Amino acid sequence: MSTPLRVTVWGENVHEKTHPLVAGIYPHGMHEAIADGLRTDPAVTVRTATLDHPEHGLTEAVLAETDVLTWWGHAAHGAVKERIVDRVQARVLEGMGLIILHSGHFSKIFRRLLGTTCSLTWREAGEKERLWVCNPAHPIAQGIDRYFEIPHEEMYGEPFGIPTPEEIVFLSWFQGGEVFRSGCTWKRGNGKIFYFRPGHESYPTYHQPEVKRVLLNAVHWARPEGGRWVDACPNVPWDKAAEKITPQGETLHRPGEAGFR
Ligand code: ZN
Repeated sequence: MSTPLRVTVWGENVHEKTHPLVAGIYPHGMHEAIADGLRTDPAVTVRTATLDHPEHGLTEAVLAETDVLTWWGHAAHGAVKERIVDRVQARVLEGMGLIILHSGHFSKIFRRLLGTTCSLTWREAGEKERLWVCNPAHPIAQGIDRYFEIPHEEMYGEPFGIPTPEEIVFLSWFQGGEVFRSGCTWKRGNGKIFYFRPGHESYPTYHQPEVKRVLLNAVHWARPEGGRWVDACPNVPWDKAAEKITPQGETLHRPGEAGFR
């Protein structure tokens, strides 16, 4: 049996404690609903972490034992500490997978990794959303028909201020007429990133079977491949070069000197 996939589900867990509507839909928090969907697969081990934990629950030790991190945030993006963002970014560059959900489009970690505004058009009117599968062969789309619908969702529309995705797995249409690139992939360093649009806190989106299926597919897709490489900017002195060389002219650095960061 292969090694279980280690997933950490991160949730801001603010709306669940402040809005009775949200608490009614997600009595144990949105993060626990997302985690429960992943726990149906015996090949996945899941832990959860929230903003109010020490270090937001994302210590060096937790991240070292995380193959894929999922991220839901909305009201408190600004409360996420920069050093935790640094830490998550470093792990993604090493190879940890990252799944950004819904309003996580404005999270510090998503904007940091993508380098753009990540802004979008939005409207909260409980519209129907139809998610079209753009590539039926993509691992994240397995088990999904040509499209699936979510009866009530917040609308996100174009323009979406992201770098052109490597692949668009889902494209959404909303009742009001807007469309949106709702399932997008990128790679940063060795880490795979998937953005998945649905998941507004006032609708039971994370209880819907198709959404659970996509998330399970996504964590498997995002699992690290190959070995773990930590970029340390190593210096290779001239006397250790693969071919014999003699330094020409004056050199500022000496053999054995540590690299600069
Ligand atoms: Zn929302």
